[in-house]
Amino acid sequence: MGIFNSYQVIEHLPRRYDVLNESKEEEFVDKARVTIVGKINSPVTIKKGYKVSAAMFSVASSTLRRSFNVLAYNRTFLTKSLNQDDVVTVWGIYNSKTNGINMINYSKGLIGPTDKVKPIYSLAQGLEQYNFQRIVKRCLEEYKDKIYSNVPFYYQNKYRLVSKYQAFNYAHFPLSMEQVRQALRHLKYEEALMFSLKNKLIHEENKLLTKIKKEPIGLDVCEPFINNLPFTLTEDQLAACNEIIEDMNDSSLMYRLLQGDVGTGKTVISFVALYANHYRGNQGAIMAPTDALARQHYKNALEMFKNLNIKIALLVGSSTQKEKDEIYHDLEEGYIDIIIGTHALFTKKIKYSSLGLVIIDEQHRFGVNQRQALLDKGKDADLLMMSATPIPRSLALTLYGDLDITTLSTYPNIKRSVNTRITYPDSKLIDDCIEKALKNDQKIYIVAPLIETSNDRFSVEELYKEYERKYPNEVILLHGKLKSEEKEEALNEFSFGSKHILVSTQVIEVGIDVKKATLMVIYDASNFGLASLHQLRGRIGRDGSKAACLLVVDNNDEEAKEKLSILVNSFDGFKIAEEDLKHRGPGDLSGIRQSGLPDFRYLNVIDDIKIFETARDDASYIIKHGDEKQFLYVIDKAKKLIEYNGVTKA
Ligand code: ADP
Ligand code: MG
Repeated sequence: MGIFNSYQVIEHLPRRYDVLNESKEEEFVDKARVTIVGKINSPVTIKKGYKVSAAMFSVASSTLRRSFNVLAYNRTFLTKSLNQDDVVTVWGIYNSKTNGINMINYSKGLIGPTDKVKPIYSLAQGLEQYNFQRIVKRCLEEYKDKIYSNVPFYYQNKYRLVSKYQAFNYAHFPLSMEQVRQALRHLKYEEALMFSLKNKLIHEENKLLTKIKKEPIGLDVCEPFINNLPFTLTEDQLAACNEIIEDMNDSSLMYRLLQGDVGTGKTVISFVALYANHYRGNQGAIMAPTDALARQHYKNALEMFKNLNIKIALLVGSSTQKEKDEIYHDLEEGYIDIIIGTHALFTKKIKYSSLGLVIIDEQHRFGVNQRQALLDKGKDADLLMMSATPIPRSLALTLYGDLDITTLSTYPNIKRSVNTRITYPDSKLIDDCIEKALKNDQKIYIVAPLIETSNDRFSVEELYKEYERKYPNEVILLHGKLKSEEKEEALNEFSFGSKHILVSTQVIEVGIDVKKATLMVIYDASNFGLASLHQLRGRIGRDGSKAACLLVVDNNDEEAKEKLSILVNSFDGFKIAEEDLKHRGPGDLSGIRQSGLPDFRYLNVIDDIKIFETARDDASYIIKHGDEKQFLYVIDKAKKLIEYNGVTKA
């Protein structure tokens, strides 16, 4: 679980809390969340379905005077831990047709006064909730006198925060939801305060950075490049280019985020900026998160910078040592104008002769503050980051503080039409869609979360076999564990070859551009974050043809269906990103990194905006009064954290 010591155990807070009260008769309506208490009055057996199995048993409630059929999906191990005649409290979703309960969780015995609030942790498979709680208890005892808060006492008193030890105690063993609230108030405020302090300290540092002033230029110098393009730039794109060039003229270094939904055309804007930068005699670099994306940018760049007498080179992990050495040499001598690559671009060995502009594509794959890493490559290098996870402007300002933001809100004239549907594993819809796409010579993505076969989830290896059996010689396999040449070959084959189906993990999420792809089937869709799913479906219908995205979930999983319905109803990246963030609670870290935001342990960036604002003001006060004894510790701590992991980790 990524936990290596007792303190990390303590920091692993419950993902949510279930408040248990036995439901009353009138609460039993279809799809309602209910709690029953009673005796198991049947054997605990296994019900097998396609791909999912459930533990099944019946519970007789004496207060309600009837029995309920309980189904616990993916938890067949319960046949070992539960027995007939056990008294249990079960909570879940009620199904009026079957008089059944789709179990969310259970606890043994009656509901006592101390366990009305039931913490639910995200745990590795096989580790049970009560086991983990026992571990937490021991760890908390071990740490009882050793838990320090970074929050200065002045603010602990001002906001009447419970001690940090008490906060952890309340969070893990609450007697009421009020205690949970008290716990989170401390932990969240501390996190927000440290984050704001780090941001402010870095901001102060950045303000001191200026570049050699150059002769100002306008977008008109880029005309040779712009006129060379196979399309005309949209107004949005032109406005973005202008903003960026203005920044380049400014005496302080550019530190800008260009955000826009998938397909809004960010790449070409970065090329315009690179052209302007080259016009002023500087080298430029684009860093992409994957080999495949770097290669694609390289290919596009060769095409778009054709006949402009600009030397472009590609540097990726799989380049041979000879190629690398040659590139190192040429960069240092200034023979290369634009270098495109992965993080290999910023290894120690590389020296640039005149680095003036660095573009970071899909910024969220790298982390927020890259400035430090770039400083020793070029003191005058402007920085432009691109991200396809759009977040509301007010939020961005709170979180990024010193970052300037350009937002693309329109798509190039090609109209996107992606019809998104929720379906289940063995539905005929999937086959129908695939056959139709094949008939029209269109390309198909099949996506699953895992590489290797597991009991209860879909894997690409297994799907690859299944589809290859159904559609011989049509299927290509792609996942992160393949060698980079193999990955490249798979993508090439899919883009240009005769095979139509690519079975892949999430690795295709970023940037891949295959125009003829019109169908995507995503298995176990609820395992992905909403923003990721939106990115994934951004891969299809790229040339404006009608496209379909099928989200495959377990037919009984109401929670998943509800979560995914936002994708069915909306294609607005902003709205989806916001919805995605809202659904994350403390202790729910999965996929946070993909959202492009700093990765908070306790804070929710949407709900806790007030805490952020308070902490931001307090951080300003602390820095202003930095020589007061009471603040020395916290400032020092913030500085250490910056050194340790930059601003991205809260
Ligand atoms: P993203 O913003 O997701 O990175 P890309 O930069 O990959 O999007 O652009 C998506 C596609 O749109 C590319 O094939 C690109 O060539 C094309 N494109 C970009 N700008 C325009 C435009 N103004 N008119 C037509 N097509 C465009
Ligand atoms: Mg892109």
